[in-house]
Amino acid sequence: MSSASALSGQKVLVFGLAKSGVAAIKLLLANGAQVTALDARDEASLGEVARELKAQDVKLVTGATPPGLLEMQHLVVVSPGVPLDLPELKAAAETDIPIWGEIELAWRFLSEVPLIGITGTNGKSTTTALTGELFKRGGGRTFVGGNLGRPLAEAALTPKDWDTLVVELSSFQLEGVHQMRPKGAAILNLTPDHIDRYANHEAYGEAKARIFASQGPGGFAVVNADDAHVLRLGLLANVPVYGFSLTGQAAQGGPKLTGLAVARPGGFRLDFLKEDYSLTNRALRGGHNTQNAMAAALLARLGGVSREAVQAGLDSYPGLPHRLESVRVLEGVEWVNDSKATNVDSVLVALRAFPGNLLLIAGGKGKGAPYQPMVEEGRGKVKTVLTLGQDAETIAAAYQGHAEVHPCGTLDVAVRRARELAKAGDTVLLSPACASYDQFKNFEDRGDTFKRLVQGL
Ligand code: ADP
Repeated sequence: MSSASALSGQKVLVFGLAKSGVAAIKLLLANGAQVTALDARDEASLGEVARELKAQDVKLVTGATPPGLLEMQHLVVVSPGVPLDLPELKAAAETDIPIWGEIELAWRFLSEVPLIGITGTNGKSTTTALTGELFKRGGGRTFVGGNLGRPLAEAALTPKDWDTLVVELSSFQLEGVHQMRPKGAAILNLTPDHIDRYANHEAYGEAKARIFASQGPGGFAVVNADDAHVLRLGLLANVPVYGFSLTGQAAQGGPKLTGLAVARPGGFRLDFLKEDYSLTNRALRGGHNTQNAMAAALLARLGGVSREAVQAGLDSYPGLPHRLESVRVLEGVEWVNDSKATNVDSVLVALRAFPGNLLLIAGGKGKGAPYQPMVEEGRGKVKTVLTLGQDAETIAAAYQGHAEVHPCGTLDVAVRRARELAKAGDTVLLSPACASYDQFKNFEDRGDTFKRLVQGL
Protein backbone atom coordinates (compact mmCIF):
# COMPACT_ATOMS: atom_id res chain seq x y z
CA MET A 1 0.00 0.00 0.00
CA SER A 2 1.71 3.16 -1.06
CA SER A 3 -0.88 5.63 -2.20
CA ALA A 4 -4.31 6.74 -1.15
CA SER A 5 -5.85 5.85 -4.50
CA ALA A 6 -5.00 2.18 -3.93
CA LEU A 7 -7.40 1.89 -0.99
CA SER A 8 -10.50 0.93 -2.96
CA GLY A 9 -11.62 -2.59 -2.02
CA GLN A 10 -8.75 -3.02 0.44
CA LYS A 11 -9.30 -4.42 3.92
CA VAL A 12 -8.36 -1.76 6.44
CA LEU A 13 -8.57 -2.04 10.21
CA VAL A 14 -8.85 1.10 12.30
CA PHE A 15 -7.60 0.58 15.85
CA GLY A 16 -9.00 3.02 18.45
CA LEU A 17 -12.33 4.76 18.01
CA ALA A 18 -11.87 8.22 19.46
CA LYS A 19 -12.16 11.35 17.33
CA SER A 20 -9.29 10.69 14.92
CA GLY A 21 -10.14 7.00 14.50
CA VAL A 22 -13.70 7.89 13.57
CA ALA A 23 -12.45 10.56 11.12
CA ALA A 24 -10.08 8.01 9.57
CA ILE A 25 -12.98 5.59 9.06
CA LYS A 26 -15.01 8.26 7.28
CA LEU A 27 -12.09 8.96 4.97
CA LEU A 28 -11.52 5.26 4.29
CA LEU A 29 -15.21 4.62 3.54
CA ALA A 30 -15.29 7.60 1.20
CA ASN A 31 -12.44 5.96 -0.69
CA GLY A 32 -14.00 2.54 -0.99
CA ALA A 33 -12.08 0.60 1.65
CA GLN A 34 -13.62 -2.34 3.55
CA VAL A 35 -13.32 -1.14 7.12
CA THR A 36 -13.09 -3.07 10.36
CA ALA A 37 -13.18 -0.92 13.50
CA LEU A 38 -11.51 -2.17 16.68
CA ASP A 39 -11.58 -0.79 20.19
CA ALA A 40 -10.73 -2.30 23.58
CA ARG A 41 -13.82 -0.65 25.11
CA ASP A 42 -17.12 -2.52 24.96
CA GLU A 43 -20.03 -1.44 22.80
CA ALA A 44 -21.91 0.18 25.68
CA SER A 45 -18.95 2.46 26.48
CA LEU A 46 -18.57 3.37 22.81
CA GLY A 47 -22.22 4.47 22.82
CA GLU A 48 -23.21 6.63 19.88
CA VAL A 49 -19.97 5.86 18.00
CA ALA A 50 -20.80 2.14 17.96
CA ARG A 51 -24.31 2.81 16.68
CA GLU A 52 -23.07 5.14 13.94
CA LEU A 53 -20.41 2.74 12.74
CA LYS A 54 -22.80 -0.17 12.60
CA ALA A 55 -25.25 1.92 10.60
CA GLN A 56 -22.51 2.34 8.00
CA ASP A 57 -20.73 -0.47 6.31
CA VAL A 58 -18.23 -1.05 9.11
CA LYS A 59 -17.48 -4.29 10.96
CA LEU A 60 -17.20 -3.42 14.65
CA VAL A 61 -14.99 -5.52 16.94
CA THR A 62 -14.79 -4.63 20.65
CA GLY A 63 -12.84 -5.95 23.61
CA ALA A 64 -9.69 -8.06 23.28
CA THR A 65 -8.18 -8.20 19.79
CA PRO A 66 -9.12 -11.58 18.22
CA PRO A 67 -6.01 -13.53 17.23
CA GLY A 68 -5.21 -13.24 13.51
CA LEU A 69 -7.52 -10.24 12.92
CA LEU A 70 -4.74 -7.80 12.09
CA GLU A 71 -2.95 -10.28 9.87
CA MET A 72 -6.04 -10.46 7.61
CA GLN A 73 -5.75 -6.78 6.71
CA HIS A 74 -4.04 -4.88 3.91
CA LEU A 75 -3.51 -1.90 6.19
CA VAL A 76 -3.87 -1.05 9.87
CA VAL A 77 -4.57 2.56 10.89
CA VAL A 78 -3.86 3.37 14.52
CA SER A 79 -5.32 6.18 16.64
CA PRO A 80 -2.86 8.22 18.69
CA GLY A 81 -4.22 6.80 21.95
CA VAL A 82 -3.21 3.24 21.04
CA PRO A 83 0.41 2.33 21.93
CA LEU A 84 2.29 0.90 18.96
CA ASP A 85 4.05 -1.61 21.17
CA LEU A 86 0.90 -3.66 21.83
CA PRO A 87 1.77 -7.33 21.13
CA GLU A 88 -0.81 -7.62 18.32
CA LEU A 89 0.58 -4.53 16.54
CA LYS A 90 4.16 -5.72 16.90
CA ALA A 91 3.16 -9.12 15.49
CA ALA A 92 1.37 -7.46 12.55
CA ALA A 93 4.37 -5.21 11.88
CA GLU A 94 6.54 -8.32 11.61
CA THR A 95 4.36 -9.68 8.83
CA ASP A 96 4.96 -6.44 6.87
CA ILE A 97 1.41 -5.17 7.13
CA PRO A 98 1.70 -1.38 6.94
CA ILE A 99 0.75 0.31 10.21
CA TRP A 100 -0.06 3.99 9.83
CA GLY A 101 -1.18 6.63 12.24
CA GLU A 102 -4.28 8.61 11.28
CA ILE A 103 -1.97 11.51 10.33
CA GLU A 104 -0.05 9.34 7.86
CA LEU A 105 -3.29 8.09 6.29
CA ALA A 106 -4.60 11.64 5.94
CA TRP A 107 -1.31 12.91 4.55
CA ARG A 108 -1.44 10.37 1.67
CA PHE A 109 -4.41 12.38 0.39
CA LEU A 110 -2.83 15.73 1.15
CA SER A 111 0.71 15.37 -0.12
CA GLU A 112 0.23 18.21 -2.62
CA VAL A 113 -0.72 20.71 0.11
CA PRO A 114 2.06 22.42 2.10
CA LEU A 115 1.91 21.15 5.68
CA ILE A 116 3.27 23.00 8.70
CA GLY A 117 3.76 20.60 11.63
CA ILE A 118 4.19 21.73 15.24
CA THR A 119 5.26 19.59 18.18
CA GLY A 120 6.78 19.99 21.65
CA THR A 121 5.81 19.30 25.24
CA ASN A 122 4.07 22.63 25.88
CA GLY A 123 2.64 25.39 23.74
CA LYS A 124 1.64 23.18 20.79
CA SER A 125 -1.98 24.27 20.74
CA THR A 126 -1.20 27.96 21.18
CA THR A 127 1.48 27.93 18.48
CA THR A 128 -0.70 25.93 16.11
CA ALA A 129 -3.69 28.23 16.55
CA LEU A 130 -1.48 31.31 16.19
CA THR A 131 0.35 29.97 13.13
CA GLY A 132 -3.03 29.19 11.62
CA GLU A 133 -4.11 32.77 12.29
CA LEU A 134 -1.00 34.11 10.54
CA PHE A 135 -1.55 31.96 7.45
CA LYS A 136 -5.23 32.94 7.34
CA ARG A 137 -4.23 36.60 7.59
CA GLY A 138 -1.92 35.91 4.65
CA GLY A 139 -5.04 35.11 2.66
CA GLY A 140 -4.65 31.37 2.15
CA ARG A 141 -7.31 28.75 2.77
CA THR A 142 -5.85 27.28 5.93
CA PHE A 143 -6.80 24.09 7.75
CA VAL A 144 -5.88 24.20 11.44
CA GLY A 145 -6.12 20.94 13.34
CA GLY A 146 -4.46 17.62 14.15
CA ASN A 147 -4.06 17.01 17.84
CA LEU A 148 -5.92 20.28 18.37
CA GLY A 149 -9.51 20.53 17.19
CA ARG A 150 -10.28 18.75 13.93
CA PRO A 151 -8.44 15.55 12.94
CA LEU A 152 -6.31 15.86 9.79
CA ALA A 153 -8.41 13.10 8.18
CA GLU A 154 -11.23 15.65 7.94
CA ALA A 155 -9.06 17.90 5.77
CA ALA A 156 -8.22 14.87 3.64
CA LEU A 157 -11.87 14.47 2.60
CA THR A 158 -11.54 17.64 0.51
CA PRO A 159 -7.82 18.13 -0.31
CA LYS A 160 -8.51 20.75 -2.95
CA ASP A 161 -10.05 23.07 -0.36
CA TRP A 162 -6.71 23.87 1.26
CA ASP A 163 -3.69 26.04 0.49
CA THR A 164 -1.93 25.25 3.78
CA LEU A 165 -2.35 22.75 6.58
CA VAL A 166 -1.24 23.86 10.04
CA VAL A 167 -1.12 20.74 12.19
CA GLU A 168 -0.46 20.15 15.85
CA LEU A 169 1.35 16.83 16.26
CA SER A 170 1.71 14.99 19.56
CA SER A 171 4.60 12.57 20.00
CA PHE A 172 2.09 9.72 19.86
CA GLN A 173 0.92 10.92 16.46
CA LEU A 174 4.50 11.26 15.27
CA GLU A 175 5.20 7.63 16.15
CA GLY A 176 2.72 6.62 13.47
CA VAL A 177 4.10 8.67 10.56
CA HIS A 178 6.37 7.31 7.83
CA GLN A 179 6.31 9.40 4.69
CA MET A 180 4.47 12.50 5.96
CA ARG A 181 6.57 15.38 4.68
CA PRO A 182 6.01 18.71 6.40
CA LYS A 183 7.22 21.72 4.49
CA GLY A 184 7.82 23.48 7.80
CA ALA A 185 8.33 21.64 11.07
CA ALA A 186 8.85 23.02 14.57
CA ILE A 187 9.87 21.53 17.92
CA LEU A 188 9.03 24.01 20.67
CA ASN A 189 10.48 22.45 23.82
CA LEU A 190 10.98 19.13 25.57
CA THR A 191 10.35 18.58 29.25
CA PRO A 192 9.83 15.26 31.00
CA ASP A 193 6.36 14.12 30.03
CA HIS A 194 4.68 10.86 29.16
CA ILE A 195 7.51 9.06 30.86
CA ASP A 196 5.01 6.23 31.33
CA ARG A 197 5.01 5.66 27.57
CA TYR A 198 8.69 6.32 26.77
CA ALA A 199 11.72 4.45 28.08
CA ASN A 200 13.52 7.72 28.77
CA HIS A 201 13.90 11.36 27.78
CA GLU A 202 16.04 10.47 24.75
CA ALA A 203 13.35 8.15 23.39
CA TYR A 204 10.74 10.89 23.85
CA GLY A 205 12.99 13.32 21.94
CA GLU A 206 13.48 10.80 19.15
CA ALA A 207 9.71 10.47 18.76
CA LYS A 208 9.46 14.26 18.41
CA ALA A 209 12.34 14.38 15.91
CA ARG A 210 10.38 12.15 13.53
CA ILE A 211 8.75 15.42 12.47
CA PHE A 212 11.99 16.23 10.57
CA ALA A 213 12.61 12.76 9.12
CA SER A 214 11.01 13.07 5.68
CA GLN A 215 11.44 16.77 5.00
CA GLY A 216 12.92 17.61 1.61
CA PRO A 217 13.80 20.40 -0.80
CA GLY A 218 12.01 23.68 -0.05
CA GLY A 219 11.46 22.65 3.55
CA PHE A 220 12.57 24.30 6.74
CA ALA A 221 12.89 23.36 10.41
CA VAL A 222 12.33 25.55 13.47
CA VAL A 223 13.77 24.76 16.91
CA ASN A 224 13.96 26.34 20.34
CA ALA A 225 17.56 27.56 20.42
CA ASP A 226 17.46 28.09 24.20
CA ASP A 227 16.76 24.39 24.81
CA ALA A 228 19.95 22.35 24.28
CA HIS A 229 18.12 19.07 23.76
CA VAL A 230 15.71 20.52 21.19
CA LEU A 231 18.54 22.30 19.41
CA ARG A 232 20.46 19.03 19.18
CA LEU A 233 17.44 17.38 17.55
CA GLY A 234 17.88 20.01 14.82
CA LEU A 235 20.98 18.03 13.76
CA LEU A 236 18.56 15.36 12.48
CA ALA A 237 16.90 17.79 10.06
CA ASN A 238 18.01 17.70 6.44
CA VAL A 239 16.64 21.16 5.63
CA PRO A 240 17.76 24.65 6.74
CA VAL A 241 17.25 25.04 10.50
CA TYR A 242 16.03 28.27 12.12
CA GLY A 243 16.01 28.97 15.85
CA PHE A 244 14.11 31.16 18.25
CA SER A 245 15.60 32.46 21.46
CA LEU A 246 14.62 34.61 24.41
CA THR A 247 18.29 35.32 25.15
CA GLY A 248 19.85 35.75 21.71
CA GLN A 249 22.53 33.20 22.68
CA ALA A 250 21.82 29.84 21.06
CA ALA A 251 22.70 26.85 23.27
CA GLN A 252 25.70 24.70 22.36
CA GLY A 253 25.77 21.51 20.34
CA GLY A 254 23.19 22.21 17.64
CA PRO A 255 23.33 22.63 13.86
CA LYS A 256 24.46 25.86 12.22
CA LEU A 257 21.33 28.01 12.25
CA THR A 258 20.28 29.66 8.99
CA GLY A 259 18.45 32.36 10.93
CA LEU A 260 17.34 33.32 14.40
CA ALA A 261 14.31 34.98 15.93
CA VAL A 262 15.32 36.88 19.06
CA ALA A 263 13.12 38.42 21.77
CA ARG A 264 13.39 42.18 22.19
CA PRO A 265 11.59 44.41 24.68
CA GLY A 266 8.01 44.63 23.45
CA GLY A 267 8.44 42.11 20.66
CA PHE A 268 11.05 40.19 18.67
CA ARG A 269 13.30 40.41 15.64
CA LEU A 270 13.85 38.01 12.76
CA ASP A 271 17.56 38.70 12.33
CA PHE A 272 18.03 37.08 8.92
CA LEU A 273 15.25 39.27 7.45
CA LYS A 274 16.10 42.31 9.57
CA GLU A 275 12.43 42.55 10.55
CA ASP A 276 11.07 43.72 13.90
CA TYR A 277 7.66 42.67 15.21
CA SER A 278 5.76 44.09 18.15
CA LEU A 279 3.96 41.88 20.62
CA THR A 280 1.35 43.83 22.53
CA ASN A 281 -1.56 41.40 22.30
CA ARG A 282 -2.76 40.46 25.80
CA ALA A 283 -3.54 36.95 24.59
CA LEU A 284 0.21 36.47 24.04
CA ARG A 285 1.63 37.80 27.29
CA GLY A 286 4.48 36.02 29.04
CA GLY A 287 7.89 34.83 27.90
CA HIS A 288 6.45 31.45 26.93
CA ASN A 289 4.09 33.16 24.52
CA THR A 290 6.95 35.21 23.09
CA GLN A 291 8.55 31.85 22.24
CA ASN A 292 5.30 30.60 20.73
CA ALA A 293 4.95 33.82 18.74
CA MET A 294 8.53 33.64 17.43
CA ALA A 295 8.01 30.05 16.33
CA ALA A 296 4.74 30.95 14.60
CA ALA A 297 6.23 34.01 12.89
CA LEU A 298 9.19 31.95 11.59
CA LEU A 299 6.87 29.26 10.23
CA ALA A 300 4.63 31.82 8.59
CA ARG A 301 7.35 34.04 7.07
CA LEU A 302 9.29 31.02 5.78
CA GLY A 303 6.00 29.59 4.53
CA GLY A 304 5.38 32.67 2.38
CA VAL A 305 3.15 34.88 4.55
CA SER A 306 3.95 38.58 4.22
CA ARG A 307 5.49 40.62 7.00
CA GLU A 308 2.36 42.78 7.25
CA ALA A 309 0.06 39.77 7.55
CA VAL A 310 2.27 38.28 10.28
CA GLN A 311 2.14 41.49 12.31
CA ALA A 312 -1.62 41.80 11.76
CA GLY A 313 -2.14 38.19 12.88
CA LEU A 314 -0.01 38.67 16.00
CA ASP A 315 -2.19 41.65 16.87
CA SER A 316 -5.55 40.04 16.19
CA TYR A 317 -4.93 36.52 17.55
CA PRO A 318 -7.82 35.94 19.96
CA GLY A 319 -6.08 33.37 22.20
CA LEU A 320 -7.31 29.93 23.18
CA PRO A 321 -9.74 29.52 26.05
CA HIS A 322 -8.38 28.51 29.47
CA ARG A 323 -4.77 29.60 28.78
CA LEU A 324 -4.15 32.94 30.50
CA GLU A 325 -7.52 33.97 29.12
CA SER A 326 -8.52 37.48 30.15
CA VAL A 327 -12.15 37.18 31.22
CA ARG A 328 -12.99 40.64 32.40
CA VAL A 329 -11.66 43.83 33.97
CA LEU A 330 -13.98 44.89 36.78
CA GLU A 331 -13.30 48.08 38.71
CA GLY A 332 -9.62 47.92 37.77
CA VAL A 333 -9.21 44.22 38.66
CA GLU A 334 -8.38 41.83 35.84
CA TRP A 335 -9.76 38.28 36.09
CA VAL A 336 -7.73 35.64 34.25
CA ASN A 337 -8.74 32.05 33.49
CA ASP A 338 -5.74 29.71 33.29
CA SER A 339 -7.67 26.52 34.05
CA LYS A 340 -5.45 24.58 31.58
CA ALA A 341 -2.65 24.88 34.18
CA THR A 342 -3.16 21.42 35.66
CA ASN A 343 0.40 21.10 36.95
CA VAL A 344 2.96 23.17 38.84
CA ASP A 345 5.13 23.87 35.76
CA SER A 346 2.25 25.57 33.98
CA VAL A 347 1.61 27.76 37.01
CA LEU A 348 5.26 28.84 36.98
CA VAL A 349 4.85 29.91 33.35
CA ALA A 350 1.73 31.88 34.30
CA LEU A 351 3.33 33.57 37.29
CA ARG A 352 6.26 34.72 35.10
CA ALA A 353 3.77 36.44 32.79
CA PHE A 354 2.61 38.93 35.47
CA PRO A 355 4.57 41.68 37.20
CA GLY A 356 2.80 41.25 40.58
CA ASN A 357 -0.31 42.11 42.62
CA LEU A 358 -1.73 38.63 42.18
CA LEU A 359 -4.53 36.83 43.93
CA LEU A 360 -4.02 33.18 43.00
CA ILE A 361 -6.85 30.65 43.01
CA ALA A 362 -5.32 27.17 43.16
CA GLY A 363 -6.14 23.61 44.12
CA GLY A 364 -7.98 20.54 42.91
CA LYS A 365 -6.78 16.99 42.41
CA GLY A 366 -3.03 17.31 42.93
CA LYS A 367 -0.46 15.36 40.95
CA GLY A 368 2.01 14.79 43.78
CA ALA A 369 4.64 17.34 42.67
CA PRO A 370 5.86 19.76 45.36
CA TYR A 371 4.25 23.23 45.40
CA GLN A 372 7.40 24.92 46.69
CA PRO A 373 8.56 26.11 43.21
CA MET A 374 5.26 28.01 42.89
CA VAL A 375 5.90 29.72 46.17
CA GLU A 376 9.42 30.69 45.04
CA GLU A 377 8.31 31.96 41.61
CA GLY A 378 5.48 33.96 43.17
CA ARG A 379 7.64 35.64 45.80
CA GLY A 380 6.79 39.35 45.84
CA LYS A 381 4.05 38.74 43.25
CA VAL A 382 1.40 36.55 44.88
CA LYS A 383 -0.05 38.35 47.87
CA THR A 384 -3.12 36.19 48.39
CA VAL A 385 -3.84 32.52 47.77
CA LEU A 386 -7.39 31.16 47.66
CA THR A 387 -7.43 27.38 47.90
CA LEU A 388 -9.98 24.81 46.79
CA GLY A 389 -10.39 21.09 46.18
CA GLN A 390 -8.60 18.02 47.46
CA ASP A 391 -5.11 19.50 47.68
CA ALA A 392 -6.15 22.75 49.38
CA GLU A 393 -4.38 21.99 52.63
CA THR A 394 -1.09 21.01 51.00
CA ILE A 395 -1.07 24.23 48.98
CA ALA A 396 -2.01 26.28 52.04
CA ALA A 397 0.85 24.67 53.98
CA ALA A 398 3.35 25.53 51.21
CA TYR A 399 2.28 29.18 51.20
CA GLN A 400 2.22 29.55 54.98
CA GLY A 401 4.27 32.62 55.89
CA HIS A 402 4.64 33.65 52.21
CA ALA A 403 1.15 34.89 51.34
CA GLU A 404 -2.22 35.40 52.93
CA VAL A 405 -4.06 32.10 52.58
CA HIS A 406 -7.85 31.81 52.38
CA PRO A 407 -9.24 28.26 52.37
CA CYS A 408 -12.34 28.46 50.16
CA GLY A 409 -13.19 24.84 49.37
CA THR A 410 -15.04 25.55 46.14
CA LEU A 411 -14.61 27.85 43.16
CA ASP A 412 -17.73 29.92 43.80
CA VAL A 413 -16.54 30.74 47.32
CA ALA A 414 -13.05 31.59 45.99
CA VAL A 415 -14.46 33.97 43.37
CA ARG A 416 -16.66 35.73 45.91
CA ARG A 417 -13.80 36.03 48.39
CA ALA A 418 -11.43 37.32 45.69
CA ARG A 419 -14.00 39.96 44.75
CA GLU A 420 -14.00 41.19 48.37
CA LEU A 421 -10.21 41.21 48.64
CA ALA A 422 -9.01 42.51 45.27
CA LYS A 423 -8.18 46.19 44.73
CA ALA A 424 -7.80 48.18 41.51
CA GLY A 425 -4.53 47.17 39.82
CA ASP A 426 -4.73 43.56 41.10
CA THR A 427 -5.11 40.45 38.98
CA VAL A 428 -7.16 37.46 40.08
CA LEU A 429 -5.60 34.42 38.44
CA LEU A 430 -7.20 30.98 38.35
CA SER A 431 -4.13 28.80 37.74
CA PRO A 432 -4.90 25.71 39.78
CA ALA A 433 -1.71 23.56 39.52
CA CYS A 434 -4.05 20.58 39.82
CA ALA A 435 -6.37 18.42 37.78
CA SER A 436 -10.03 19.28 38.09
CA TYR A 437 -11.63 15.85 38.40
CA ASP A 438 -12.42 16.12 42.10
CA GLN A 439 -14.98 18.88 41.47
CA PHE A 440 -15.37 19.27 37.67
CA LYS A 441 -15.73 17.16 34.52
CA ASN A 442 -12.43 18.49 33.12
CA PHE A 443 -10.34 21.67 32.97
CA GLU A 444 -12.68 23.18 30.38
CA ASP A 445 -15.64 22.72 32.70
CA ARG A 446 -13.64 24.34 35.53
CA GLY A 447 -12.63 27.29 33.34
CA ASP A 448 -16.16 27.76 31.99
CA THR A 449 -17.54 27.72 35.53
CA PHE A 450 -14.99 30.36 36.55
CA LYS A 451 -15.93 32.54 33.57
CA ARG A 452 -19.61 32.24 34.39
CA LEU A 453 -19.01 33.18 38.03
CA VAL A 454 -16.82 36.14 37.06
CA GLN A 455 -19.29 37.38 34.47
CA GLY A 456 -21.97 37.23 37.13
CA LEU A 457 -20.12 39.56 39.53
P1 ADP B 1 -0.11 22.03 24.50
O1 ADP B 1 -1.05 21.91 23.37
O2 ADP B 1 1.29 21.61 24.14
O3 ADP B 1 -0.60 21.43 25.79
P2 ADP B 1 -0.95 24.79 25.06
O4 ADP B 1 -0.71 25.84 24.06
O5 ADP B 1 -2.32 24.28 25.23
O6 ADP B 1 0.07 23.60 24.79
O7 ADP B 1 -0.41 25.30 26.45
C1 ADP B 1 -0.56 24.50 27.60
C2 ADP B 1 0.15 25.11 28.78
O8 ADP B 1 1.55 25.03 28.56
C3 ADP B 1 -0.13 26.59 28.93
O9 ADP B 1 -1.24 26.78 29.77
C4 ADP B 1 1.14 27.12 29.55
O10 ADP B 1 1.11 26.93 30.94
C5 ADP B 1 2.22 26.19 29.00
N1 ADP B 1 2.97 26.73 27.85
C6 ADP B 1 2.48 27.26 26.70
N2 ADP B 1 3.46 27.60 25.86
C7 ADP B 1 4.62 27.25 26.46
C8 ADP B 1 5.99 27.34 26.09
N3 ADP B 1 6.37 27.84 24.93
N4 ADP B 1 6.91 26.89 26.98
C9 ADP B 1 6.55 26.40 28.17
N5 ADP B 1 5.27 26.29 28.57
C10 ADP B 1 4.31 26.72 27.73
